[in-house]
Amino acid sequence: MSLSEKDIQTIIQSVMQNIETVIGQQSPQQAQEIAPIKMKTVSYETPNAGVHYSSSSVGELGVFERMEDAIEASFLAQKEYVSSFQVKDRERIISAIRNVILSEKETLARMVLEETKLGRYEDKIAKHELAAAKTPGIEDLRTAAFSGDDGLTIVEQAPFGLIGAVTPVTNPTETVVNNAIGMLAAGNAVVFNVHPSSKNVCAFAVQLINKAIKESGGPANLVTMVKNPTLDTMNVLVESPKVRMLVGTGGPGLVKALLQSGKKAIGAGAGNPPVIVDDTADMENAAKSIINGASFDNNLLCIAEKEVFVLDSVADDLIFNMLNNGAYMLDQHQLQQVMSFALEENEKQVAQGCSLDNKREYHVSKHWVGKHAGLFLEKLGVQAPSNVKLLICEVDFDHPFVQLEQMMPVLPIVRVKNLDDAIDLAVKAEHGNRHTAIMHSKNVDHLTKFARAIETTIFVKNASSLAGVGFGGEGHATMTIAGPTGEGITSARTFTRQRRCVLAEGGFRIIG
Ligand code: NAD
Repeated sequence: MSLSEKDIQTIIQSVMQNIETVIGQQSPQQAQEIAPIKMKTVSYETPNAGVHYSSSSVGELGVFERMEDAIEASFLAQKEYVSSFQVKDRERIISAIRNVILSEKETLARMVLEETKLGRYEDKIAKHELAAAKTPGIEDLRTAAFSGDDGLTIVEQAPFGLIGAVTPVTNPTETVVNNAIGMLAAGNAVVFNVHPSSKNVCAFAVQLINKAIKESGGPANLVTMVKNPTLDTMNVLVESPKVRMLVGTGGPGLVKALLQSGKKAIGAGAGNPPVIVDDTADMENAAKSIINGASFDNNLLCIAEKEVFVLDSVADDLIFNMLNNGAYMLDQHQLQQVMSFALEENEKQVAQGCSLDNKREYHVSKHWVGKHAGLFLEKLGVQAPSNVKLLICEVDFDHPFVQLEQMMPVLPIVRVKNLDDAIDLAVKAEHGNRHTAIMHSKNVDHLTKFARAIETTIFVKNASSLAGVGFGGEGHATMTIAGPTGEGITSARTFTRQRRCVLAEGGFRIIG
């Protein structure tokens, strides 16, 4: 199947529709009930669970037993790519990758869910669509030119060569697709050390990508990975002189490890995005937006709303609107119960999650990360409407659900007296990650004040966090938001070197 630009635009529009929650008009009597959310029916089980996919149909394309062999194969592929292929060939190859991912998006979503057991099927389809359709290609590259009496100088964006990329379990194949498109558009090849808990589906994605590249006439092994990734295989990747750039998407431990490599490294680290809602906000829009962002893929995304600071004067209004749009309020007893199974005491005093702080009292229990709100309610023995997508609770600032990047559909809400308190606490809760923050307000001064105080890579106003990566917001998509190293919303140009080429007076300077 081959898709035109127009087809891709249509798909992008359908992605937007998929994630928009459409709420019907409510009568006052309905106000205490949870409104039906017009999205595809959500199941918190893997659709067709038990169906096993074999990657054998696409062969072993790009998947190697040894990291050394993956590096060698991609190293040679990149040499061929830059010497024998033109920029228009890159465009054709990238278009083939987009097409194959779009046509296999359901299979990929199902396989990710089966292997990682995290998140929601429908949202994973949307994430694959987003990565395939909205990751920029060669159009992202710009050549700068200067001309004048002294001649002509151009500055080109040249490839780095071979890139080593490390990917998270939360967006496993979506990051492989997004990184591969951006890196190949810039003329590089890439070797992945994927998260071990997603190695089978990532191998399938790498094979699909290589098959598409081969069928469009490109070189073999532009995208490779090691079949069984470990910390040892990552060390081989980091230490290989053939790998010229490292790109890591994951928690702070990974970013720290890559930054110690002595190589050019791009680090996309953890977030703990706060939301502020002030007394000028449109409460219904704020409630719907927060629920959309915080419940998407069961809150796995690093950009997702993780804690809310709301002015006391409007807190009841916000909560009322949230309950009316797919949220369920945990009472204090239920909250204690959720903490007892979804958090674990940090007995060994080790750092985990969104911060390298080893003094935290709790960690999140891996078993409950990315699980559907319905499973939490089942465990609590609560009969709730099946369309509940998000659990909310009222807590103090020090509560572990505020401080931890929990990646569960449990959103803590903290009441504050005024805007200054909201900003102060939100900045503290973000832990200096400078990742993402969201604010609902109609007051420009308030928006500016918070944006300046928190200095995040993404700052979303009056919309869901998803708008920050191109879901219902302008701008391209990325799965690698490089806050710690400052590249921001990465794209092809991030994976380039600046190369200056100078022609002084056309080479005919006459010295008089
Ligand atoms: P993780 O840090 O546990 O793992 C990410 C990758 O790094 C995996 O491949 C893992 O094997 C490897 N890794 C982990 N610790 C390492 C270490 N000390 N040394 C070397 N390699 C290491 O993260 P995860 O659970 O897979 O993903 C969730 C985390 O990633 C969250 O913190 C989330 O915020 C973050 N994330 C960030 C972005 C972004 O763009 N900034 C995108 C997605 C996820």
